[in-house]
Amino acid sequence: MNLEIIKAIDALLETPQRIVIIPHKNPDGDAIGSTLALWHYLNNLGQQAKVVVPNDFPKFLKWLPLSELIINFEKDTESAKELINEATVIFTLDFNHLGRIGQLQPLLEEASATFVMIDHHQEPSDYAQIMYSDVSMSSTCEMVYNVIEAHKGINHITPEIAICLYTGIMTDTGSFKYSSTSSRTHTVAANLIEKGANNTLAHSMVYDTNTPSRLHLLGCALKNMVILEEFRTAYITLSQEELDKNNFKKGDTEGFVNYGLTLEGIIFAVIFIENKDEGIIKISFRSEGDFSVNEFARAHFNGGGHNNASGGRSEMSLTETTNYFTSLLPSYKDQLKK
Ligand code: 5GP
Ligand code: MN
Repeated sequence: MNLEIIKAIDALLETPQRIVIIPHKNPDGDAIGSTLALWHYLNNLGQQAKVVVPNDFPKFLKWLPLSELIINFEKDTESAKELINEATVIFTLDFNHLGRIGQLQPLLEEASATFVMIDHHQEPSDYAQIMYSDVSMSSTCEMVYNVIEAHKGINHITPEIAICLYTGIMTDTGSFKYSSTSSRTHTVAANLIEKGANNTLAHSMVYDTNTPSRLHLLGCALKNMVILEEFRTAYITLSQEELDKNNFKKGDTEGFVNYGLTLEGIIFAVIFIENKDEGIIKISFRSEGDFSVNEFARAHFNGGGHNNASGGRSEMSLTETTNYFTSLLPSYKDQLKK
């Protein structure tokens, strides 16, 4: 974190502000953990702050302290609009272009607030006056930790802040296993435990709260898996009908895509999930090693993310989408071959 960013944040927070904190659409553990942690921190400083999410977030994150006070734009549109219009500072966390916030995009484009971006995705756009963007970071939560450390010091990390940050680091690193996990990430996690984060609770609340229908849906996903050994690729499909039959709830498919990578020799894993309400197929891409799924998602599926984890979408049918996907693989044979 460079001195200029610290100074700029310092200067902003010296005076009372009306602050709104916003994560990306379909917020995950890192998005919710980082926004809630920053919110607790700013409230403790006496700032007037609120968290607004573009849409709902999964139940396995709803135990995080004060998550029940998060304002969901889809449910509470008018108050969210008012907060954004009247904000003097808007923190955008865990995304780096306004296309990632769905229906909030036009509102943020019109907003007169000073924007602060805290994010670890590739190729940030330039909407924010203060940009803390670092693709080497494990998670946005690790970056919020750095902000607090540089701003008032880690003595300002309460147990509530600690558990939010720990949970986001844990989920964004696949429980400390992805290559973005550095020794510093472990140091930060250790310090958060010192500050009162109950690490066992975080693991069990996030990973050990399956419902029978989620496990049945996982069974269906694994049955549908197609393995293309020639391209060291495995993909999964889930149709709307299969989701409905298994009583799908938001967050139920989280982590399914990773099963492809657990196969020996597979380095590219994908899941295609039909969403009839939105008329799209939502896609998650994961890779191991040098094959950049960020570039792949950007080039073909209107998406992006990180080198080894990205997402995108398609407006074709499920079958057309997987046919299109498999038709692309021969041109990546050099990168995917053994
Ligand atoms: P997931 O597959 O878990 O939804 O997302 C994996 C990563 O890719 C996350 O860091 C997420 O922010 C990013 N991502 C997911 N979907 C999209 C998308 O449609 N566009 C972009 N630019 N990034 C995405
Ligand atoms: Mn993240």
